[in-house]
Amino acid sequence: AREAGGNGWRFYDAAMNREVSERLAMRNGLRKALERREFELHYQPQVELADGRLVGVEALVRWRHPEQGMVAPLRFIPEAEESGLIVPIGKWILREACRQAAAWRAAGLDVPYVAVNLSAVQFQRGDVVLDVLEALSASGLPPQALELELTESVLLHDAEGVLATVRRLRELGVRLSIDDFGTGYSSLAYLQRFPVDKLKIDQSFVSRLGEGEDGRVIVSTIVQLARSLGLGTLAEGVEDEALARQLAGLGCRFGQGYCFGRPMPADGLAEWVAANPA
Ligand code: C2E
Ligand code: CA
Ligand code: CA
Ligand code: CA
Repeated sequence: AREAGGNGWRFYDAAMNREVSERLAMRNGLRKALERREFELHYQPQVELADGRLVGVEALVRWRHPEQGMVAPLRFIPEAEESGLIVPIGKWILREACRQAAAWRAAGLDVPYVAVNLSAVQFQRGDVVLDVLEALSASGLPPQALELELTESVLLHDAEGVLATVRRLRELGVRLSIDDFGTGYSSLAYLQRFPVDKLKIDQSFVSRLGEGEDGRVIVSTIVQLARSLGLGTLAEGVEDEALARQLAGLGCRFGQGYCFGRPMPADGLAEWVAANPA
C-alpha cells in the first residue's frame, strides 16, 4: 500500500497526527473540566426485584462540555485512565457522591447506599483508601452507605497490593461489589480471596436471557455461584418487566435498568423516590 511513493506514508502520518492531537485536546479538556467543575453525577436506582423497593443508587459520571453538551463516560474515561487524570477525577467523584448521599439522608430521603465505580488505575496510581476516608469524613456519610464497584481487572493486577487495599476498604465498613461480572478474566479464584458482598451480572448476559436455554444457564450459574459463596447478585441492564420476573425466578435478588429508572440528576432521583413509594 506504500508503493505510491511518499503519499501512503504521508497519509498515515496525517492520521496519526490527528489521533495524537485529538488525544492531547481531550487530555487538556479533562484537566480544565476538573478546574471548571464541568463533571456531574447522575444516579440510577437499584431495586429489590421482588417488590421494586429502592436499595441503593449507582453514581455515573457525565461531562457537561461547554461546546459539546453532555459527554458520556465511555468517551472520556479511557483517556482519563491513560493520562492518570482519573485519579483526581475519581477523587472528586467519591467526594461528590458521598456529599449527595449524605444530603439525601439529611433531607429524610431513604437512599440506603450510593455505589461508586472505581477504575483499576485508581488502585495502581492513587491512594484509594485515603480518598475514601476523606470522602466519608468530609460528608459524614456512614461507611455502610457507600458501595464501591470494582471490575475483575482491578482484582487481577498486582494481586497482593490490591488484596491488601481491598481488605483495608472492607475494614472501613464500606460495601464492595464486582462490576460487569463474567466479562473479564475467567479465573474465579479471586472470588475466594477478596472480601466482596455482591456480583453485578453484566447486561450482556441479562439481555441474552430472553434468547432461550443458553442465556438462562449462564445467569443461573452466576446466581448459584454467588449464593454458594454467600454473595448477593444484582442484574444490570434490566429493560423490561418480563426480564425482571425471569431474573427473580432464577434467584437473582436485585436489579438495575431502564425498566426501573434511567440514570438521572440528583433532584430527579428525589422525584423518582416520591413516585415509587416502597
Ligand atoms: P457500568 O458501570 O457498567 O454502568 C452501567 C451503564 O449501563 C451506564 O452507562 C448506564 O447508563 C447503562 N444502563 C443502565 N441501565 C441500562 C439499561 O437498562 N439498558 C442499557 N442498554 N443500558 C443501561 P454509562 O452511564 O454511559 O456508563 C458507562 C460506563 O462508564 C460504566 O459502565 C462505567 O464503566 C463507566 N463509568 C461511568 N461512571 C463512572 C465513574 O464515575 N467512574 C469510573 N471509573 N467509570 C465510570
Ligand atoms: Ca458500574
Ligand atoms: Ca456494570
Ligand atoms: Ca457494563
